[in-house]
Amino acid sequence: MKLVIVREGREAEHRVAAVPETVKKYCAAGLAVAVEAGAGAGADLPDSLYSDAGADIVADRKALLGDADIVLSVQGLEAVDAPAVKKGAAVLGVFNPFQEGDRLKALAGAGLSVFAMEFIPRITRAQSMDVLSSQSNLAGYKAVIDAAATFGRAFPMMMTAAGTVAPAKVMVMGAGVAGLQAIATAKRLGAVVSATDVRPAAKEQVESLGGNFVMVEDEETQAAETSGGYAREMSDEYKRKQAALIAETLAKQDIAITTALIPGRPAPLLITQEMVASMKPGSVIVDLAVEQGGNCALSKAGEMVVTDNGVTIVGHRNVPSRLAADASALYARNLLNFLSPHLADGAFTPDYDDEIIAGTLAARDGAIVHERLLPQPK
Ligand code: NAD
Repeated sequence: MKLVIVREGREAEHRVAAVPETVKKYCAAGLAVAVEAGAGAGADLPDSLYSDAGADIVADRKALLGDADIVLSVQGLEAVDAPAVKKGAAVLGVFNPFQEGDRLKALAGAGLSVFAMEFIPRITRAQSMDVLSSQSNLAGYKAVIDAAATFGRAFPMMMTAAGTVAPAKVMVMGAGVAGLQAIATAKRLGAVVSATDVRPAAKEQVESLGGNFVMVEDEETQAAETSGGYAREMSDEYKRKQAALIAETLAKQDIAITTALIPGRPAPLLITQEMVASMKPGSVIVDLAVEQGGNCALSKAGEMVVTDNGVTIVGHRNVPSRLAADASALYARNLLNFLSPHLADGAFTPDYDDEIIAGTLAARDGAIVHERLLPQPK
């Protein structure tokens, strides 16, 4: 079977779905490997490293796709690619199916088996395949580095002969994978850190990293976590109480890092225009949820907004791609770990009853098959 790795075409995407180390493993498993020319350039991986690892380098994307049994990508193939790929080929990537349903339909219509890697179940056995975790972890780190680079003051407390510099106060909203790494990174830089979430389980995790946990606790929070570990959308009453608490805390902060997401829904609005107006000049907000609609009312995807009261709101797109070399290496290993149990004698023969395969398979045999993407009963 032939496994191919495509070059990503989307704006601000510098990652690649396989690195020379994983290419070697695929070759050792008996697969023929081909890489689209320049696929690794954005992650500092020249074509020569892939050919040294055993891959063919192919410049003609159509020819590459026409030959493929397995296609590895970061952001999935585009609808225009679909006719070039053999019916029945497996395509792995992050397909963003809730926002890009038409693309998934086109790929499904071409008879491809689409594995949407963002659907990897949050179970222990799948941890090494969890692309959302590997990428969010890096995004949480980078968000703090971006905030520190934008902030006109130091993060740590410094006691000098010329006087004392106070430590920066950082608030992290959403203490999932990205948020916890943001807390750890801000602590390492010497900031005083607080954090909030709707899931009570986050409290212990925040405190174990030295953060101060701030949260509205009521009956609703007992059911705020789904069985998959994600947050639910909260009621209007909860949102009102949470907004009052955030408003009070935020006015005292220098930096806010927002990471709150709800799968399949727009990101919750946590920082209103009035809250931004209450912040001190020089404060910085980094909104990691900007591409899902944003946690801050004033953030703009791909832009840095400076408000009249001197607050800078950073809205980088695709933050993991800003650390493309590390992000690619981890993502590539996630895919290898996902495929490996189903590779035998140079072929990919997925066990469709396996919880991880079934949980990830978005389309097969011409139809969309994932339960989260099928019309929901009323
Ligand atoms: P996510 O990216 O979906 O959301 C980020 C955080 O925002 C979450 O902690 C969520 O609770 C929080 N949030 C949502 N709405 C909010 C609101 N209105 N106000 C404040 N916070 C809000 O989450 P994630 O990083 O993917 O992690 C979700 C959960 O899955 C966590 O419990 C994490 O520990 C768990 N997890 C488990 C595994 C595993 O077992 N394999 C792997 C990764 C993550």
